[in-house]
Amino acid sequence: MNKRVRVRFAPSPTGGLHLGGVRTVLFNYLFAKKHGGDFILRIEDTDQSRFVPGAEAYILQTLNWCGLTPDESPEAGGPYAPYRQSERKAMYKQYAEQLIDAGYAYIAFDTPAEIEEMRNNFKTPENPSPQYNQAVRAKMRNSLSLSKEEVDALLAGNTPHVVRIKMPDNEDVTFTDMIRGEVSFNTSQVDDKVLLKADGMPTYHLAVVVDDYLMKISHAFRGEEWLPSAPVHLLLWKYLGWANDMPEWAHLPLILKPDGNGKLSKRDGDRLGFPVFAMDWTDPKTNEKNTGFKEHGFLPEAFVNLLAVLGWNDGTDQELFSMTDLIEKFSMERVHKGGAKFNYEKAKWFNAEWIKNADNAYLASLVQPYFDEAGIQVQDKSYLEKIIGITKERCILLPDFITQAGFYFAAPTSIDTASIAPKWDDAKKNFFEALCTAFENSNSNDHTVLENIFKELTAAHGLKPGELMLPMRIMLVGGKFGPGVFEIAATIGVANAVARIKHALTLL
Ligand code: GLU
Repeated sequence: MNKRVRVRFAPSPTGGLHLGGVRTVLFNYLFAKKHGGDFILRIEDTDQSRFVPGAEAYILQTLNWCGLTPDESPEAGGPYAPYRQSERKAMYKQYAEQLIDAGYAYIAFDTPAEIEEMRNNFKTPENPSPQYNQAVRAKMRNSLSLSKEEVDALLAGNTPHVVRIKMPDNEDVTFTDMIRGEVSFNTSQVDDKVLLKADGMPTYHLAVVVDDYLMKISHAFRGEEWLPSAPVHLLLWKYLGWANDMPEWAHLPLILKPDGNGKLSKRDGDRLGFPVFAMDWTDPKTNEKNTGFKEHGFLPEAFVNLLAVLGWNDGTDQELFSMTDLIEKFSMERVHKGGAKFNYEKAKWFNAEWIKNADNAYLASLVQPYFDEAGIQVQDKSYLEKIIGITKERCILLPDFITQAGFYFAAPTSIDTASIAPKWDDAKKNFFEALCTAFENSNSNDHTVLENIFKELTAAHGLKPGELMLPMRIMLVGGKFGPGVFEIAATIGVANAVARIKHALTLL
């Protein structure tokens, strides 16, 4: 690669970030870092009607949470600032004019009502929604159909107008996509897209090409849904005289619903009970709330890992990758052409693996907010880290620590006595009363000492340890979970263990 690698993520700030969007960021980021290049965040906010307050800040927070921090962005600045297209408005007009002067674009004065009328007049059963294209443009009000005098008069009268690209008739436009190989389109299939709107703002098509050029973007990676726009962009690169500087392109495959039937949408998440957004997002207009992977208790490392393998692998059966591994091993050529099915059970498996392998102090910092919210008080940080070390193998999502570790910090608030009651009798009651006395007398926090006391006492009472372990576990932790009961008793301390058993006895 002789050009400096510069890639961009160019979202429109219209809402929360879907996991497919974050995967686009990730692949851009990995490619940039692998080649020692730059990763740019450019906000494509030229469509003011779709602008959603808070969306840009959300995008940035998501990128930071994932560790995909851009080198250049509206917030960080950079040599090609500004990075918000609305702030670059003045730059685009000259390129639209250049295209008009060269005959590649034209001015169109049609009102929305006139376009509607055209659609009605030209619609046929085969073509129910005719487009503004080479078949109809001569019949519309534009600088190709009107005389120069008429056009000048309309412009002098400040008549609202747009600039449209003049798509050539029946030309094949071809480019090489890094994932798909050679891709070809016939220009007759494409309409005369608007490039500059009546409010002077460029549309996405003009702005994306101008900015990719001005920002010296070397590779443009984006979702497959943008493939139909590629011929327009390709022609703009050519018509503006920049064909030699055009970035290499890759259109990333879709992330599919779990059953493989179509693109995964935010509605699937609600329907199937899993997050589709990176972080919680509440639409300020509709108040609709979408939950995020972060708040569900995913580690950012696990989220990045599971996204990386949605549509990519390194050619081996390795599944767990750190960011450093990914930067080293990623290549666009190994991204699959076909869509990748999303599997939430598999996503959780990644999280459980990352929790299991994570450093206890790091996990403690992530678990603390969940404990705060659950009202679990942590006096001693090193005790928290120790408990996390004991329980992390049992946790799939971070909130699981509330159940799996919370009882080490306070007596359980609810005790599943219903699971003890059916087999409860006086013999067992007597045993536990005796056990409390024996535990108190031992005053030991050694789990083997406590276990021996327990075993000797079961023998003395003519009972089987197997019948008593589960009740004891439920008395200590509230339910049927947690590591070994004697380890639990020793860790919370024998005095606390006795207090919990005594309390449970009052409920039975
Ligand atoms: N603004 C487009 C979007 O919202 C960017 C597409 C591209 O990367 O060219 O996704």
